[in-house]
Amino acid sequence: MVGPKTELEAKFRARYPAAPPPRFFRAPGRINLIGDHTDYNEGLVMPMAIESACYVGVADNGLDAFRVFSEDMQDGVEFRIADLDAAKPRRNWTDYVIGVAAELKRAGVPLKGRDLLIESTIPVGAGLSSSAALEVASTLAMLGGSRMEPLEVVHLCQRAENDFVGVPCGIMDQFTSVFGRAGVAIKLDCRSLEYEPVPLPRKVAIVAVNSMVKHELGASVYRERVNECKAVLQAITEKHPEVTSLRDVTADMLAEGYNWVPVKRARHVVSENMRVQAFANACRAGSIQSMGVYFTQSHRSLQHDYEVSCPEIDFLVDSALTQNGCFGARLTGGGFGGCTVNLLNRDAVPDFRTRIREAYRYSYGIDPQVLLCEPGNGASMLA
Ligand code: ADP
Ligand code: MG
Repeated sequence: MVGPKTELEAKFRARYPAAPPPRFFRAPGRINLIGDHTDYNEGLVMPMAIESACYVGVADNGLDAFRVFSEDMQDGVEFRIADLDAAKPRRNWTDYVIGVAAELKRAGVPLKGRDLLIESTIPVGAGLSSSAALEVASTLAMLGGSRMEPLEVVHLCQRAENDFVGVPCGIMDQFTSVFGRAGVAIKLDCRSLEYEPVPLPRKVAIVAVNSMVKHELGASVYRERVNECKAVLQAITEKHPEVTSLRDVTADMLAEGYNWVPVKRARHVVSENMRVQAFANACRAGSIQSMGVYFTQSHRSLQHDYEVSCPEIDFLVDSALTQNGCFGARLTGGGFGGCTVNLLNRDAVPDFRTRIREAYRYSYGIDPQVLLCEPGNGASMLA
């Protein structure tokens, strides 16, 4: 069989000729259908795992160190297990891998020296969560057969990204990469971590359009939004002590006259939680038109209230909405570039692909990547 495993095996052999036969792990990326910037506010999200994934080959190396090479970055790193306790971030891709190794050690997992080879089919930095996929696949590889509860893997990877990489992300990406399931999206409550599979109507296709841009300011605005949410929460808690997160905030509380930018941010979170619920219900009822309406409303809220869109993404959304067979379109992921997610009639996908590429090339001179996304399974070892 020719496939990712066979190709990766050849690359593994070439890089680590003396290694014993490697094992391979796969962790998928995800596309968030609806519910953005709600996860770190204990809210609702509805992502699905996708076929694109991060693959890691791994074998013992008999050393007291990990050697890691990323085919995508064409770069490698070696680090000793003994040095993990005092490891400092290097501010590059290796932080994701060293971060999970350090967390595994802190969790008391016995670690052995291993060689890892990484290769991913997820576009990097496009909002399809190549980072969580890298964390999850690396964790499974470094566990080397030691058992860890799937939810513990999720928390461990989130800690690595929060504390070591330094991105204050919520739990959605890691959760989806671990718990994704073929054929369904996952409605997740980021407070209770209860989740439900939601099958998509058969007629619907989910298509990602990658704007191919990632504006520098994205990372700092993400932090700023996290802090704005904390600020508005604190103000509301003074009046309503029962409120412990934006999840508890109601539209009425926001109407109480805080004339302040962070209130717009909270309005996005509160309305987005309601849209996730409504979208899931519409999905179950097969009401594709309504699903599309919630999609587009979500985009407008991210654009105007949360202010995390950018001209390229707004262009892709507006252009998609003029096309036949497109029910809704929105920014997906953190914002300031990355991908839009489009809800299409399956039959309309080929024409949509052609037209959106033409339109974006004409206006921005950029050829966007257009990906048909099928809901796939969560992380596993490859047989
Ligand atoms: P996203 O998760 O949306 O793709 P992030 O900015 O959160 O975007 O994560 C992207 C970062 O993850 C990259 O800049 C790189 O540091 C790391 N990364 C992702 N995939 C790989 C890979 N295959 N090899 C090495 N690093 C990777
Ligand atoms: Mg990420």
